[in-house]
Amino acid sequence: MTGRGTTTSVESLLNRRYRLLGKGSPLFYDKPLHIVRGEGVWLYDAEGRRYLDAYNNVPHVGHSHPRVVEAISRQAATLNIHTRYLHENILEYGERLISTFDPPLSMAMFACTGSEANDVAMQMARLCTGNKGFIATDFAYHGNTTAVWTVSSFFTAREDRLPYVQTVPAPDSYRVRAAFSDRNLGDAYARTVQDAVDALHADGIGVAGIIFDTIYSSEGLPDVPQDYVRKAIDIVRSAGGLYVADEVQPGFGRMGDHMWGYQHYGVVPDIVTLGKPMGNGHPISAIIAREELVEAFTGKKMYFNTFGGNPVSCAAALAVLDIIEDDGLVAHAREVGDYVQRGLRELKHKHQLIGDVRGRGLFFGAELVRDRKTLEPATAEARQVVNAMRDRGVLISKIGMHDNILKMRPPMPFSTEHADLLLSTLDECLAGT
Ligand code: PMP
Repeated sequence: MTGRGTTTSVESLLNRRYRLLGKGSPLFYDKPLHIVRGEGVWLYDAEGRRYLDAYNNVPHVGHSHPRVVEAISRQAATLNIHTRYLHENILEYGERLISTFDPPLSMAMFACTGSEANDVAMQMARLCTGNKGFIATDFAYHGNTTAVWTVSSFFTAREDRLPYVQTVPAPDSYRVRAAFSDRNLGDAYARTVQDAVDALHADGIGVAGIIFDTIYSSEGLPDVPQDYVRKAIDIVRSAGGLYVADEVQPGFGRMGDHMWGYQHYGVVPDIVTLGKPMGNGHPISAIIAREELVEAFTGKKMYFNTFGGNPVSCAAALAVLDIIEDDGLVAHAREVGDYVQRGLRELKHKHQLIGDVRGRGLFFGAELVRDRKTLEPATAEARQVVNAMRDRGVLISKIGMHDNILKMRPPMPFSTEHADLLLSTLDECLAGT
């Protein structure tokens, strides 16, 4: 049923969509889904069929969580207005949010999307350092504005990034290992950051910053070599640049060990960007930074975002923080995450196709290979598994340079029972490839 109470076939929706949005507008699955309702970790299609959502991180505390819905409705019924008026929600939320970060990260700015947050972070880094150059990994996604696009190496051709952006290999200890002869992979990867810094200097551009997704999600959730992040950031800071940590995917406790992905590496960033799960689907994002950076940036440039940080968005985001805390979702992510990791490792013993299992907390990657020695990517098989899972009612996706890594990143209330369904369905689908 559609919102207006009429049943519409997938085919007719597809045709309307192609006509209106174009065939390039991305859709999941060979047989696209028409989802009409969500509750907790479940999604329901127009025929009333239920799907276990093991993919979406935006509905962080669960689809249509009643406390978030209530907070949004209550505030929407009272007032929604932009941030050029005083309002307590932005302050209450901002203070609560900042208390989850390490000093000296003490100030917040608000936007609506992860792309905007990263765009502001890049502007801030450039303005505060006086330099223009950025370093990103070679298969990153940080968003879709003109500036952020240049560090989203996933999409941009090298010639469209130069001269202001240099890329470094994603620090992968599984697939890329063979490219380095060094025993200390962390050092080898850190040297690529030094090379990038040198290239920016050679071009007379200088280093404004390095941007890392702290779980390297588009890159395929690599196991990051010990000390790599610390060494990379030391190199960038010595060159006068800043560390921008993109928490759009790993943030808000998903990693299970900490609230923020950067905390795993023991280096406090200069700027942190947040998005996706922040408002459980309500568009809100943020830039968190040291005081002197925010003061310098806002002192020189007026930053205003009509919808960023409005009272309704902040009410939604505040409810999300309350639920994370009240339901102990960070520890839950660790416990259930460990359970899923164990299950995936068992499947690796059983199915040759799984070459590697990675991830932290409630974020998993299973890299499919045709041969465990050559590591030939099993790209077509990954697509087959993702579609077979969807046909059996479990939603996952795939990532990585070779599009061969199964990506699983469920809403946080995902339980061990849900995990059993995910694992048994995956077992069946792998057996069928
Ligand atoms: N950073 C990362 C790591 C992301 O995964 C994304 C979205 N996939 C973004 C930034 C951009 O966020 P948005 O789509 O909200 O602009």
